[in-house]
Amino acid sequence: MIQVIKCTSKPCINGYPSSKLECPTCHKLGIPGSFFCGQECFKANWKSHKVIHTIAKAPLPSFNEGEEGSFDPWPDFRYTGTLRAMYPLSPKRAVPKRINKPDYAKDGVPKSEALEPYNSIRILNKKQQERMRVVCKMGREILDLAGLHVKPGVTTDEIDEIVHNAIIERNAYPSPMNYREYPKSICTSINEVICHGIPDKRKLREGDILNIDVSVYYDGYHADLNATYPVGKIDDESKMLIRTTRKCLDEAIKVCKPGALFRDIGKAIEPVAHANGCSVVHTFVGHGVHDLFHGNPNIPHYAKNRAVGTMKPGMTFTIEPMINLGVYGKEVCWPDAWTVATADGKRSAQFEETLLITETGVEVLTAGAPLDI
Ligand SMILES: [Zn+2]
Ligand SMILES: [Zn+2]
Repeated sequence: MIQVIKCTSKPCINGYPSSKLECPTCHKLGIPGSFFCGQECFKANWKSHKVIHTIAKAPLPSFNEGEEGSFDPWPDFRYTGTLRAMYPLSPKRAVPKRINKPDYAKDGVPKSEALEPYNSIRILNKKQQERMRVVCKMGREILDLAGLHVKPGVTTDEIDEIVHNAIIERNAYPSPMNYREYPKSICTSINEVICHGIPDKRKLREGDILNIDVSVYYDGYHADLNATYPVGKIDDESKMLIRTTRKCLDEAIKVCKPGALFRDIGKAIEPVAHANGCSVVHTFVGHGVHDLFHGNPNIPHYAKNRAVGTMKPGMTFTIEPMINLGVYGKEVCWPDAWTVATADGKRSAQFEETLLITETGVEVLTAGAPLDI
């Protein structure tokens, strides 16, 4: 006979009124909502219940194959989707002495960014704009090169190495390296990862989607751009997500010209995402980019935002919408303190360009070929 203990806490998984007794193994594994009404109920259901533990503990080799000897560094972490980190990370890559470095390269602290007055937006003169053109062209060349290596079996660490070497060869510095102590030269965000994924030993798998974010520092100026690539054949939903995200960015770029408001960028993006059943990430924004990697203004990608500022000729900034297949919910950060994943484990895509406001409109400094999927 199952004894029902009434209490005022959570409902019992067996449908009895309520209970305070949580399965201790579920608690340890981070499985939510495993409450029982009492010890008898717990014992009577133990056989069927413990299957949950086995499923939660099982590795997912079919989704996550790493290089030999690699492992998931956080087996007890409650990932939101099927993707797993694959460590160890490769050793820090070297940057030759001759290369001109940003102020955070040594200690990880972007000091000049902190000195920026609140809400002041840089206006670049013709000489500075020309330097932005040069570094942004370089950034595009490097991102396109990285894209050529996206195929099943390749690890994101291998792509990081290719990009790192390509940047060094051009006497430039990979902007993400050691920025607030980020460990690698690019960000690689797979499937449910929204942004800031760290290149590791996981092999790309047919059907994945991968965002590669490349930022380069050359002759005192940063370029910042990214794109989402299919890994081999991908399903129709993922294709739709990638096309929608690119369209969101293209519509946002159309808004840009002297006199336009930064807050109207999100107004152009959100309807495109919603029309396709997707949602817009709120937490991460576009930003000024020039001699600072991240400067004013902040550019939200959602509608009804309170971004400050009017576009003027000579301003350079990014637009970089992150669009989710699922409804918008609070993101989950991995224990590496960088990788940000969707709360529901559904996929997310992103595109980013660096733009210059001209006298008559906008110039996409990092422009590449049109999307082809
Ligand atoms: Zn970027
Ligand atoms: Zn950016």
